[in-house]
Amino acid sequence: MKEMVCIRCPIGCRLTIRREGEEIQVSGNGCPRGREYAVTEMTRPVRTFSVAVRVAGGDRGAVAVRVSKPVEKRYIQDIARIARTLLISAPVSVGQIVVKNVCGSGADLVAIAAVGCEKTL
Ligand code: SF4
Repeated sequence: MKEMVCIRCPIGCRLTIRREGEEIQVSGNGCPRGREYAVTEMTRPVRTFSVAVRVAGGDRGAVAVRVSKPVEKRYIQDIARIARTLLISAPVSVGQIVVKNVCGSGADLVAIAAVGCEKTL
């Protein structure tokens, strides 16, 4: 038996999950989304997350990027490792794809902030 809080809406139902073989029973959910959340968490948990990527020639040295859609948790460490090695050039615009299909996850790394070019005198 496992317990978790559904995070699909602010109500935060307390879910109880019982797994017997392939069968997953969920109780405590106030709507069908709670069951869907619990089953996904038990079988193929996904997350969205953001990370910083270094920028060359920018008015800031880094930009925040985010995965374009939830990715399986097993990809997170590899994506973070790749992001730490990246050095992209300014300017960077919001929504710019920094890495397509990062680590084969099916998600892109997308800039969520803009970085202008470094001012020169
Ligand atoms: S089970 Fe439904 S009502 Fe309860 S927190 Fe999840 S989404 Fe909200």
